[in-house]
Amino acid sequence: MFKGTKLYSILFNKCPRCQQGDFFVKSSALTLRGFDRMHERCSNCGLRYEQEPGFFTGSMYISYAFYVALTVSSFLLFTAILDVDAVDLLWGLIPAMVILTPFFFRMARLIWINFFVSYDPAYTHPAEPNNKIKL
Ligand SMILES: [Zn+2]
Repeated sequence: MFKGTKLYSILFNKCPRCQQGDFFVKSSALTLRGFDRMHERCSNCGLRYEQEPGFFTGSMYISYAFYVALTVSSFLLFTAILDVDAVDLLWGLIPAMVILTPFFFRMARLIWINFFVSYDPAYTHPAEPNNKIKL
């Protein structure tokens, strides 16, 4: 449905360039063991995911934004609308943040790489035999 958009790559754990190969080894963030393991390269187009050492350091800013959005929206919902005490909210928010960490981690990395790599369905891997060099 969203194929060809950055949203497809982000939501379905796909390579940002070809949207065929998987980005993370595990398809779900719910598998706690190895939820953060990434493929080194795309199995379809060969895109190297970690394009330089420390490439994904910038994704921490995105992850931080997720936590801030969760905190602010929870605060507005529970204290302003539902009249929950702010301290009680904090005690509920801490486990929620821990539980959501795998989701935020994965989403942040996928969003980060989608900033720099665009969808290119015509790209073919240089090692493929059908790929001819244009002169
Ligand atoms: Zn790819």
